[in-house]
Amino acid sequence: MQKDQLPTRRRMLLAGAAALGAAGAAGAAGALLAGGVGEAARTTADPVAGPQARQALKPSAFRLQPLTGYGPPRAAPRKLKVRKEPFVRISGHGRRMMLTFDDGPNPNYTPHILDTLAKYHVRAMFFVCGECVVENRELLARMADEGHVVGNHTWTHPLLTTLGRREIRSEMERTSDVIEDTYGERPQWFRAPYGAWNRAAFELGAQMGMEPMAWTVDTTDWTVPGTDTIVEQVVQGAAPGVVVLSHDAGGDRSQSVRAIREYLPYLLDSGYHLTVPPRRM
Ligand SMILES: [Zn+2]
Repeated sequence: MQKDQLPTRRRMLLAGAAALGAAGAAGAAGALLAGGVGEAARTTADPVAGPQARQALKPSAFRLQPLTGYGPPRAAPRKLKVRKEPFVRISGHGRRMMLTFDDGPNPNYTPHILDTLAKYHVRAMFFVCGECVVENRELLARMADEGHVVGNHTWTHPLLTTLGRREIRSEMERTSDVIEDTYGERPQWFRAPYGAWNRAAFELGAQMGMEPMAWTVDTTDWTVPGTDTIVEQVVQGAAPGVVVLSHDAGGDRSQSVRAIREYLPYLLDSGYHLTVPPRRM
């Protein structure tokens, strides 16, 4: 994919975006992990593997209500307030967290992540790129079947702050179109690539009926830091309201696939309820 042809630039941009994201989220979150890489972090990574002591969710919690239960799937976008910054946390009572996976879908990694989510009856959010969706339409259908929420992550994953409004609109609109075609509903959430937001992105997103969603905790899986480090970032960052950023595409994501098999049962054993935003607010 285009975004993989310039790994150095991508990494540079991502590093900057992560720093911005951390700065924006730190005040509200108070749970961001500073550092946390290398052997020092690994020594404390002792996730509880296996299903012992977990309370299984009812199958109905996983299968969810059918899409048709939320009104006409092709309803016109709602009028939304134009925000000046994205959501970085989820609200609600109790120990709720949300897992998000960006840049897919990818046939090598996304099915494994979906398998793990299904095993534990957990739903997540997938911020997909349109150019990946057209190659993997069946994965969007599976996400819909299994109750996951799909968000818009643009068509080609550009740095929006370098684009004109017309290009940004095209990136976002085409992606919402293909999501509607494959998933069955237009997305209600948008995430800017690299976490690089600008006014046009907020305004266009609102016009298209989408709220902006960033994250609280970056697993740093995009740096391919090792499965243990990814697990550690999630474990250390876990707190009520936290939104976790991971990736199911955009590079070798086998570490992300392995990590969720460890941190997901750990979070459930710790009493967290993994949730998604309502499909209709
Ligand atoms: Zn991305």
